[in-house]
Amino acid sequence: MNTRVIRIDPLVPDAAALIPAAQALRRGEIVAFPTETVYGLGAVWRDPEAVREIFRVKGRPQDNPLIVHEASIGRMRQYFRSWDSVAECLASAFCPGPFTLIMEHKENIDSPVTAGLATIGVRIPAHPVAQMLIELCGEGLAAPSANLSGRPSPTSGADALEDLDGKVPYIIDAGPCEVGVESTIISWVDGKLELLRPGGISAEEILKALHSQGLNIPLITEDAGRAADHEPPRAPGMKYRHYAPQARVHILRGETKEAKLEQLSRSAAEGILGSRPAFYLSEAIREKAMWILEGQNVAAFELITFTTEQAHKAAAQGLFAAFRAFDRSGCSDIWAEEQSLQQLGAAYMNRLRKASAQQHESLRNDY
Ligand code: AMP
Ligand code: MG
Repeated sequence: MNTRVIRIDPLVPDAAALIPAAQALRRGEIVAFPTETVYGLGAVWRDPEAVREIFRVKGRPQDNPLIVHEASIGRMRQYFRSWDSVAECLASAFCPGPFTLIMEHKENIDSPVTAGLATIGVRIPAHPVAQMLIELCGEGLAAPSANLSGRPSPTSGADALEDLDGKVPYIIDAGPCEVGVESTIISWVDGKLELLRPGGISAEEILKALHSQGLNIPLITEDAGRAADHEPPRAPGMKYRHYAPQARVHILRGETKEAKLEQLSRSAAEGILGSRPAFYLSEAIREKAMWILEGQNVAAFELITFTTEQAHKAAAQGLFAAFRAFDRSGCSDIWAEEQSLQQLGAAYMNRLRKASAQQHESLRNDY
C-alpha cells in the first residue's frame, strides 16, 4: 500500500486537505492523525471490520479495548448507560482535553472497541485537526496510539510514518504533539473512581475539579502497572509491554540534582552505563553530567535534554521522541532522569517505569 502523508497546519487546518482522509475513514480504511497527546490510528468506531484492521495493523491483542474519540460532550454522553454529576463535572472540566472517561456503555453497543467489556472509554481530543477529522466523518473514531504494539507512541507525523509506512492509506502530519504522553484514563464504575493511567491531566487537577463541585469522592490512584501478578489488571492494556524502545531503559534516580549526578558518576565508574549509552536529562544537570562522563572517559554517548522550566511537562513531552531518536542511533542503554510525581511527572514516571520493566517476566513481550 502506498501511504500518503497529508501535511497540515495544526492550528488553522484546511478542511479541503482533510477530506480524502475522512472519505477513506468512511470507506472503512484506517488513518493516522494528530491529537494533543500522541498520534492516533483511527477507524470509524461503528465499523467492526475497520476496527479489527486497527488491531491487525498494530499487532494489538484482541482483549485490549480502544478509546473512542468524539467531537462534543453531547455526543460523548450517548455511549454511556447513564450520566451523573461526577461525569458532568469531569467532562465539563477536562473535555476537550487529554482525558478519557470510562463508564458502563449502553446495552445496544456491540463493537470490538470494547473488547467485550461492559464499559467503554471516550474522550474528546482538543487538537483542531482531530476535531475537524471527527466532524468530517460524522462519527466517533476508535483510536489507539499510532505505533506498532510495544513501540513508543508516536508524537510526530514522522514517528507515525516510521511505524506505519505502507500499512495505512493516510498519515495526517501536523507536527509534534503538545502533551507527548497519552490521556489520563479515569474509570467511574459502580461508585468507584479509579485512575487507570496517569496522563495529560493530573490526579490533583481531577480532585480539585470534583471538590469545587462538592463531590468528595476518593480517587484510587495506585498504579495498575505495579499490581501483583495474581491481580487482574484494571485497564486490560496494563498487562502488556508498553512504550519500550529497543535499548535498555534505566532511571537515573535521586531527589536532588546532586543525588542524580552521584548515581551517574557511580554508574560510570562501575562501567555499567552500557556500550553505547544515551542520556535524557534536564538542562539543569546537563553540564555537570557531561563533565562527569568526560572525566570517566565515557565516549560516544547520545544526549537529549529538556528544559528545566516546567520540567515535568517538558520531560513528558519529549520522552517518546527521545526513545525513538536513541533507537535510530543504535544506543544500547538509555538513562532517563527521574521526576517527582507531581503534575505530568506521574505520567512521565509511569511510562518510564513500564519501559524499564521490559525484561520483567509478568509483562508479555508481544503487545
Ligand atoms: P491506547 O489507545 O493505545 O493509548 O490504549 C488505550 C488504553 O485504554 C489501554 O490501556 C486500554 O486497556 C484502556 N482502555 C480502553 N477502554 C477501556 C475500558 N473500557 N476499560 C478499561 N480500560 C480501557
Ligand atoms: Mg498505545
